[in-house]
Amino acid sequence: MLLRSTIPPENPTAVQLKTILNLVERHKSFVYQEARWVNPKTKTEIEVHIEPRANGRAICSGCGKRAAGYDQLAERRFEFVPLWQIAVYFVCTMRRVDCPRCGVTVEKIPWCDGKNQLTTTYRWFLAGWAKRLSWKGVSEAFDTTWQNVFRSVKHAVSWGLAHRSLEGIESIGVDEVQWQKGHKYLTLVYQIDGGRKRLLWIGKDRTMKTFLRFFRMLGKQRCGKLKFVCSDMWKPYLRVIAKKAAQAIHVLDRFHIMQKMNKAIDEVRAGEARQMKADGYEPVLKHSRWCLLKRRENLTEKQTVKLSELLKYNLRSVRAHLQREDFQQFWEYVSPGWAGKFLDQWCTRTMRSQLEPMKKVARTLRNHRELLLNWFRAKGALSSGVVEGFNNKVKLTTRKSYGFRTYDAIETALYHNLGALPEPEFTHRFW
Ligand SMILES: [Zn+2]
Repeated sequence: MLLRSTIPPENPTAVQLKTILNLVERHKSFVYQEARWVNPKTKTEIEVHIEPRANGRAICSGCGKRAAGYDQLAERRFEFVPLWQIAVYFVCTMRRVDCPRCGVTVEKIPWCDGKNQLTTTYRWFLAGWAKRLSWKGVSEAFDTTWQNVFRSVKHAVSWGLAHRSLEGIESIGVDEVQWQKGHKYLTLVYQIDGGRKRLLWIGKDRTMKTFLRFFRMLGKQRCGKLKFVCSDMWKPYLRVIAKKAAQAIHVLDRFHIMQKMNKAIDEVRAGEARQMKADGYEPVLKHSRWCLLKRRENLTEKQTVKLSELLKYNLRSVRAHLQREDFQQFWEYVSPGWAGKFLDQWCTRTMRSQLEPMKKVARTLRNHRELLLNWFRAKGALSSGVVEGFNNKVKLTTRKSYGFRTYDAIETALYHNLGALPEPEFTHRFW
């Protein structure tokens, strides 16, 4: 006769893999069996068999309801989060059910969906690390493929997009970023509200059609609640904003205007440097690019010396630089009226300057006078650095060695890193 006492009493301090699994990921209708080495000699992989609880009826993967058993399929292996660089697999003999609604279907299991070979937890684990490392870095750290990392991130992104809230958006900013050689652009739309800043949407190209798709995604009602829209002077964007968010104050972004001015300075400098070289002058403009483009307070010591040297010459580049420095005052105004007066004077001075690229900027600013002055009407509600900050992060993300070849991959990476997307709640965080 077997006595109860022959079973060793459970030791509360003993830890088994099974115990840990029940702690971190317990399933109601399935139980973990003992963990085993796949190959006791090499000891590189652990398998944990999972079995349905006795009398537990399987769930139909079609409708999510319990159904009568039909038959069993061959064993399937699912990869779980590795333990100390040892691969861990769940092994399960899947059942099929005879569902009155869906017919004969495979059962639904809680640790994985669809035909995936990676468990859902492992996919979130890889996606979580992909926020800290490049995708290649993640695949190397956890000994898996780049494709597995990419698919995991894609899964996290689609879950996040499906579960995020788009309510309460009052301020948005639109920006364009070049992402491939040639004229390939992305249109990016950000939420730039005081309490919430995130990437909302990405589209290929920078046409009216592209940007219209964002407004379609947002929906008419939410578009009607927008109070501020921030953009650069790209015409297709201006047109779409006028059409789709007419009630909002449309602000031209400080960052983009100064960027335009810097481009003009650069053009003047390049032309002048070429001219000086052709005329046989000393190359005083050599290594001058950054000291002309950067704000004075951001110059390094060396650049400051270079700039003061340049200021001695009556160079076109220096004049363009001084015009830009002069314009910085514009942003310090409080009232749109005074700012407008300053703007007009600056444009008049610049139009007399004979610096063609700068004159072009002045003409553009004149043409967009009202939108520019909206900056002061919106003052306090928008911070100028937000779009610029996102712009830098986008460039960083696209530059990082993710192995991007496709639009799909870049879109996924940007949403993942900048979208502030929600994640499901986990009983245990693995990453
Ligand atoms: Zn069903």
